[in-house]
Amino acid sequence: MSLLDHLSAKLAAVSAQSLKRSLRRADTGTAPRQTVNGRELLMFCSNDYLGLAAEPAVAEALAEGARRWGGGSGASPLVSGHSAAHEAVTDTLARWYAPHIPQARAIGFCTGYMANLAVVTALGDEHTEIFSEQLNHASLIDAARLAKARVTRYGHADVAGLRTLLEASTAQVKLIVTDAVFSMDGDLAPLPALLALANEFDAWLVVDDAHGFGVLGAQGRGSLEHFGLRSERLILVGTLGKAAGLAGAFVAAHTTIVEYLLQAARNFIFSTASPPAVEHALLTSFALIEGPLGTARRANLARLQGQLRAGLVALIERHPRLGWSLTEATTPIQPLVIGGNAEVMALAAALEAAGLRVPGIRPPTVAAGTARLRITLCATHTAADVDQLLTALGRAAAELDASAPPPHA
Ligand code: PMP
Repeated sequence: MSLLDHLSAKLAAVSAQSLKRSLRRADTGTAPRQTVNGRELLMFCSNDYLGLAAEPAVAEALAEGARRWGGGSGASPLVSGHSAAHEAVTDTLARWYAPHIPQARAIGFCTGYMANLAVVTALGDEHTEIFSEQLNHASLIDAARLAKARVTRYGHADVAGLRTLLEASTAQVKLIVTDAVFSMDGDLAPLPALLALANEFDAWLVVDDAHGFGVLGAQGRGSLEHFGLRSERLILVGTLGKAAGLAGAFVAAHTTIVEYLLQAARNFIFSTASPPAVEHALLTSFALIEGPLGTARRANLARLQGQLRAGLVALIERHPRLGWSLTEATTPIQPLVIGGNAEVMALAAALEAAGLRVPGIRPPTVAAGTARLRITLCATHTAADVDQLLTALGRAAAELDASAPPPHA
């Protein structure tokens, strides 16, 4: 069989299960509004939670950074790609996390995927056992597969199950690895309980705060601030392409851990450093996150989240026959679980016809039978925007309910 025939057969199988993915081109726009095929769509799918990608001061800082530093960094960090702008970013992050991690130091990466790969492959050597949460992000799963460590999976938020696994472990080094905010469910990992286990069993806790950074905590420093955690056992990964409105990622940890990553993380050593202009703009973004604008936007996010959640609860109560449900989400990620793949895609299409962009998420990203609309909020949404979504969902639900077969007696 030729490669092309082989791939065509696989693609046909994907299509048959309503699992084919495709790119859609946005012509203009920033969250929460985009023009696609000449139509403006109100988006509930961006991770730009604070609306900073569209903030004029951030765009201006990016332009100023480009004027000062030019385009790309031109080399990997250890060669000549590490600029004063890069260092100012990691210095700021080291200061931010000093209250949470004794002797904190930070190191930068081009993406969160890369930061997760670095931490888990560099620390997960043959003396290590990795305890990986069932709903971890794909980048953590891939990283664990690449690591030389033994990998043991524990159930979602299953602290008791993790304890049993830790008790049985004879590994020299134990690494608990978890998302802080689960990206497809919007719920929080029980970080205080996980840290207590880390203390009890001499383990280390890697926290992927991709969706918490900028959003959680009074100053937007994420899940460590939200839970008030402090320990040298915390290894924090944050991403800068979501709430920070730009691109990149960082690891903040005890200085010895960061020093080791600098020596051992192959994807840090052998990859071009991020553009210095992006780093320069991140400094503006950080100032906004910790300043009054960040505080006001987090407060608006909380209001919108309450409005959306109440509306979704009422919708589900009105249409019990549809079998829709919510997750335990307590963040701007508020998924509506629909069930079937074709059903969720039809619903996403109906919303798009009403001018709304809400992605349908299907297996393998989520478990079979739990396809969902992944609704995300931006602080720059208005209450009227959320009402528009709830109204469109209400119409679609009423139509589906009217056409659904009667429930079994
Ligand atoms: N971790 C989580 C939980 C994520 O949701 C994502 C992005 N979807 C990443 C890591 C990867 O971050 P980045 O997009 O910066 O590569």
